[in-house]
Amino acid sequence: MEFTERVSHLAPEGAYQMLVRANEMEAEGHEIIHMEIGQPDFPTFENIVKAGTNALEEGHTRYSPSGGLGSLRQVLAEHAGKFRGIEIHASQVVVGPGAKPALFFPTMALVHPGDEVIIPDPGFPTYSAMIGVAGGIPVQVPLLEETDFSFDLEIFDSLVNDRTRMIILNSPSNPTGGVLPPSSLDHIAQVAIKNDIWVLSDEIYARITYDDAPVVSIATFPGMAERTVICDGFSKTFAMTGWRLGFGIMPETLAERVELLLTHAIGCTATFTQYAGIEALEGPQHQVEAAVAKYKERRDLLVDGLNSIPGVKCRMPQGAFYVFPNVSSFGRDSEWIANYLLEEAGVAVLPGTAFGNGGSGFLRLCFAIDAVRIELALDRIHEAFSKIF
Ligand code: PLP
Repeated sequence: MEFTERVSHLAPEGAYQMLVRANEMEAEGHEIIHMEIGQPDFPTFENIVKAGTNALEEGHTRYSPSGGLGSLRQVLAEHAGKFRGIEIHASQVVVGPGAKPALFFPTMALVHPGDEVIIPDPGFPTYSAMIGVAGGIPVQVPLLEETDFSFDLEIFDSLVNDRTRMIILNSPSNPTGGVLPPSSLDHIAQVAIKNDIWVLSDEIYARITYDDAPVVSIATFPGMAERTVICDGFSKTFAMTGWRLGFGIMPETLAERVELLLTHAIGCTATFTQYAGIEALEGPQHQVEAAVAKYKERRDLLVDGLNSIPGVKCRMPQGAFYVFPNVSSFGRDSEWIANYLLEEAGVAVLPGTAFGNGGSGFLRLCFAIDAVRIELALDRIHEAFSKIF
């Protein structure tokens, strides 16, 4: 069948592909440890579920405004502003089904065909996909292992030109768990202002950080609020991946355009889900803190365990729930190794190349699984690697 140019470049997300293969193996009777898909292993917190079911029982089963319930936008403006230390108005907040619409629709509104967009490499695969749909050109800036996967600023500077329309940041990062230092953000902000470039800052992991990592939004730098789109959501922080709830924060005029795109593309976000979102923000926060403390324990266990396997080198991520070990010493490509670990060890992980060429020689493992399974995975990976080292 013939497709338009705007969709023919699209490919499935590596995580979903690996999940399908791992599930097939499970159906054949293999016991698989899932470290491929990036989502919390525990259910949505009880008070949030209750708020969602109450909303349904109370009859909140109809359309809501395309940009989100006024009450949710208000609460989001307060919470997101307080968290980042900036003032945000409800008119700057657009709610969508998941965080992805806050990436996709602002990109549709801002990127012209032929515009260049700088993206991190390795980076979340949706970035290049949505830039392609907009007719733009993704331009990769490498993330360096030796600086805990922050930008190579010299290369970054060399990539900026008069066709650069937008820069995408993702800190803490999927897939590396790296956090961009404030000095890099300052540099990027100055370049963006000088060259009149938009910044799309994907901050979906901003509340999942460790060791007092300095998680700063680029929107807080002078002159940046008017050229920054913040993408954030409920999926990871509140274990709400299946509820589909996220939001974008952007200048009001852009928010109005994005709301029109939402009107015509999705209508609105599920209304009861938005009521659950209000409870997530306004209700007790100790469960989020407890989850982050758990992730930290698991991170330490996994990083220590991986570093004790001959041939594996793993940096300590400062955020999100991913590790990105370097396995290049085995002399095989990342895809081969990911397939080998699935077949030989029953551990599902992703090849770093699922996130771009910059992921070559690396794997991504999600540590949002319990410690017992992490230990079992480490034993199995150790044994499998000892056969090829
Ligand atoms: N941004 C990043 C970096 C992610 O890792 C994800 C999900 O994995 C998203 C955005 C999308 O989040 P949501 O499921 O809320 O659309």
